[in-house]
Amino acid sequence: MKKNSSFSFKVISKDSKTKARVGQIHTPHGDIETPAFVAVGTQATVKGLSPDELREIGVELLFGNTYHLHLRPGEDVVQEFGGLGKFMNWYGPTITDSGGFQVFSLAKRIAARGGGFLTHASGDVRQPFEKIINFFPSSLSESRPPDENTQKNTRPTFSSPGNDQESSIDKNPSLVKITNDKVVFRSHIDGSLHELTPELSIQIQKKLGADIILCFDECAPYPSTREYTKEAMERTHKWAERSLAEFYRCHPELLPVSRQGVSVSTSAGEEMPKQVRHDTGREQALYGIVQGGVCKDFREESAKFISSLPFDGIAIGGVSVGETKKEMRDVLSWVHPFLPEEKPRHLLGIGEIDDIFSAIECGMDTFDCVIPTRFGRYGIVFVPPWESEAKGRFRLDINRSIYVRSNQPLSKDCECKVCKQFTRGYVNHVFKANELLAYRLASYHNMYFIVHLVKKIREAIMEGEFSKMKKEWVW
Ligand SMILES: [Zn+2]
Repeated sequence: MKKNSSFSFKVISKDSKTKARVGQIHTPHGDIETPAFVAVGTQATVKGLSPDELREIGVELLFGNTYHLHLRPGEDVVQEFGGLGKFMNWYGPTITDSGGFQVFSLAKRIAARGGGFLTHASGDVRQPFEKIINFFPSSLSESRPPDENTQKNTRPTFSSPGNDQESSIDKNPSLVKITNDKVVFRSHIDGSLHELTPELSIQIQKKLGADIILCFDECAPYPSTREYTKEAMERTHKWAERSLAEFYRCHPELLPVSRQGVSVSTSAGEEMPKQVRHDTGREQALYGIVQGGVCKDFREESAKFISSLPFDGIAIGGVSVGETKKEMRDVLSWVHPFLPEEKPRHLLGIGEIDDIFSAIECGMDTFDCVIPTRFGRYGIVFVPPWESEAKGRFRLDINRSIYVRSNQPLSKDCECKVCKQFTRGYVNHVFKANELLAYRLASYHNMYFIVHLVKKIREAIMEGEFSKMKKEWVW
C-alpha cells in the first residue's frame, strides 16, 4: 500500500508550564511521534544494533552522516540500492546531515591534537593539527565519554581571519580549507582531496534519499571569539540560501506550498488556536540550521533569519561542542521565541538524559546523539538517578568489580530484553573478557532506555505531568 508521500508536522498538545510539546512528523516512510530520540547510524549502521533490533526498541527516526556515506561507499552506490533506508534494510524514516559538521569537527579535533594546519576563509589564522589520514579512531577506541558537566570539551580557540588570502591545500597535505564558497578537505580514509559546497551537499543528500535533509552550515568551535562566531554564522546564512536554492533546483516539481497556521480542534470540538500543522506537499524535507555560538544576539539573529526562509523544519546546531550545560540551555531559550510554531525543531548532537529534559522543556521535538552506543561500548549503562552510582547522574560503570556478583538487571526500571535476560554480573564478565556480546548488550539497553524515557516524557506532557516527571529525574 502506498503511503502518503508528503512530509508534514502537527502539534498535538502543549505543556501549560513549559515550552514542551507533543507532535507528529509524517514522512513517506512513516510517522515520528515527538518528542523523539533519533538513533545515529553514522555509516548506515547503528553500531552494534541491527535494524530489526532498532524497530523492536521503538526507534522511529534514523540519522545517517553524509560525510561518511559520501566517502564510503559513495552516494551513487547508496542511490543504486534505492537510498539509505533500503540500503541498510531500515524501512522507517531517515534523516541525513550536510556533511559539514564532520569536516569541521575533523579539522578542529585534529587541531586540538597538535599537528598540521587548519586554514580559515582568510588563510591567516592557522591552527596546528596532525595529518588527517588515520585520524578517525576505530569504533572501539574512541575517547572516553565526556564528563557530564560539560559537553565534548576538546576544541581549540579560533580567532577571526583578517584578510581574504587563501592558502593552497596542495602545498600542505594535511590542510582543511574553509572559504566563503566551499570547504576543501582530505578523506580520513585514504587522504584523497574532496570539496563540499552547499550545492554539493544537497545533491549528495538527494541521492542518499533521506526523508529529512539538512543545510550545509559551519559549526563554529567552542570557544570561539565573537568575531569568528559572527563570521561563521554569516557564512551559515549565505550557505542556507544556497542550500535552499539548490534544493528547489533538485526538486523542480516541488514548489514551497506551505499551508501554515491551520487550527486543530479537540475531540470536544473546541478550537485550540495554538495547535498548528505544517504540510509541505513534498517527499523530502529540508531543515535550516541556526548557529551563533553562545552569543545571545547572534543566536537571535540566526533564529530570525533561518525562520524567515521557507524551510520545512529548523535544526539548532553548534551545541554539544564543549559549552557548559547552562550555556546550552541559554542557547535554546534565546532561539525559542523566534522559531515558527508550526515547524518541527531538531536539536543536533544532544543525548545525555538531563540535556534531553532541557531540550524538551525548551520546545525541541527531536534530537540525535551517538551516546547510547558509544557509552555502551565502554560499559557505561543508563539507569534512573535513583539507581545511579553518583547523585544526580544517570549511569553506572558495569566494569566495576562491585558488579561481579550482582544478580540484578542493568536497571530494575528497564523492561528491555537485556534487563529481562542478563544480570549485571554477567554483563560485567563479558566486558572483562572483551567479548563482542558485551558491546551489543550494553548498547541495546542504552538505546532502549533512552528511547523509552523519551516516550514516557511524551506521555507525561500529554497528561500535564512533565514538570513533575522532570523533578523526579533531574535534581
Ligand atoms: Zn535494559
